[in-house]
Amino acid sequence: MVKLQVFFFPLMAHGHMIPILDMAKLFASRGVHSTIITTPLNAPAFAKGVQRSNDLGSQMSVKILEFPKIDGLLENCENADQIANPAMLPIFFAATKLLKDQLEQLLKEHRPNCLVADISFPWATDSAAKFDIPRLVFHGSSFFASCAGEQVRLHRPFQNLKSDSDEFFVPNFPHKVKLCLSQIPPYVRSEETDFAKTIIEARESELRSYGVIVNSFYELEPEYADHYRNVLNRKAWHIGPLSLCNRSLEEKAHRGKQAAISEDDCLKWLDSKSPNSVLYVCFGSINKFPSKQLHEIAMGLEASGQQFIWVVRKGTNDKEAEDWMPEGFDERMTGKGLIIRGWAPQVMILDHGAIGGFVTHCGWNSTLEGIAAGVPMVTWPSFAEQFYNEKLITDVLRIGVAVGAKEWVIGTGGGNIKSDAVETAVRSIISGEEAEERRKRCKGLKEMARKAVEEGGSSYSDLNALIQELSLYPSSS
Ligand code: UDP
Repeated sequence: MVKLQVFFFPLMAHGHMIPILDMAKLFASRGVHSTIITTPLNAPAFAKGVQRSNDLGSQMSVKILEFPKIDGLLENCENADQIANPAMLPIFFAATKLLKDQLEQLLKEHRPNCLVADISFPWATDSAAKFDIPRLVFHGSSFFASCAGEQVRLHRPFQNLKSDSDEFFVPNFPHKVKLCLSQIPPYVRSEETDFAKTIIEARESELRSYGVIVNSFYELEPEYADHYRNVLNRKAWHIGPLSLCNRSLEEKAHRGKQAAISEDDCLKWLDSKSPNSVLYVCFGSINKFPSKQLHEIAMGLEASGQQFIWVVRKGTNDKEAEDWMPEGFDERMTGKGLIIRGWAPQVMILDHGAIGGFVTHCGWNSTLEGIAAGVPMVTWPSFAEQFYNEKLITDVLRIGVAVGAKEWVIGTGGGNIKSDAVETAVRSIISGEEAEERRKRCKGLKEMARKAVEEGGSSYSDLNALIQELSLYPSSS
């Protein structure tokens, strides 16, 4: 029998490349030939994962498209995490649009059975249609955030609000979810900018595509999985948590970029701590907090008396200056706090029994990785759909405490949070009666997540159904 061949085309950003690599591995483990499409400087991020899968008998490959040259973008800038100034992001997206011809050439040559393309490439639906290839969308969000975003976009409940702190409820929603005006992205508040137009195009292409793959599991957000399908009429398959396809320590330790700490050093440090006693603090692959904010976090962590692993990423113009660090902080924190400057092996850390809390920016991958590891969260959203994810964590699942971020800002960290807010939130996530209740709920979700991806589980079965449907295409359409 001829193998089903699926092409996977992620946006060049780690928050998209990481789950799409996991997804491609998962498809390959079910007998599909998975091919990842990327650009030369991003290819190394996939190489190990692809090699490991092939060693285990799967069939995976990588195809390379040249990253287009465009005015305004630095040479060799092929990944969103290399963009120093968020104002440059629209130029980065404009460059990715120029990949269209190369993608079409590839599709023409190889005629895969399906193209799974990132939501950031709205034009990919038409490219695939030229060759009668079904295009699936991956947007990397939860059902909850997708539903909330769509209801807010459609009904504009914030329309008549005057001040940033004025609040509104998400309309037509199973739970009462309240946000304030300043938590809404500028591209939703005004639909006139170029970036807003790209977002609208993306939504339209989603509606015209074959369907959506969601990195979630049904039991986590059943009302919203149903809402997405039945109220918003999307055809969707939930196949997550994708991070759980990384079963070995090696796979967990080498996800994404090269870590700035060795696996052994990190595990040795964690092994010396008692269960649930350490906070893991990380704000994703894009955020670079200003020195002033890092200083407040340091003061808050120290005042809380909690042990921590803190991943610190600095802007490139900061010349790695340590001006944020309170005097003597390093010495005082020896043995108590571990600072990782750069990339951390996040899933390996979260899965360690010593971790008792996760201070997160609520990126959906991080959120779901925290849930799959059974770790309660301190929520500190900053951009994209992170403010919705915060509400899912704190109000719906009740497994987190908000630090109090109110301002949607791309890449620089959700506003001006003071050290006492950090101290209060991290203290309450580790100890106290409510912390115990939260931890119990987290344990329950962790078990459900694991069951969902095992044979017979909801995500396992939905992936089977999708593969079956694709193998019958076009008669299934
Ligand atoms: N990540 C990691 N180490 C780091 C920072 C991030 O492994 O030091 C991974 C994390 O596990 C997650 C992804 O990068 O899979 C970040 O995705 P998310 O959606 O949480 O946030 P984004 O980076 O897109 O803002």
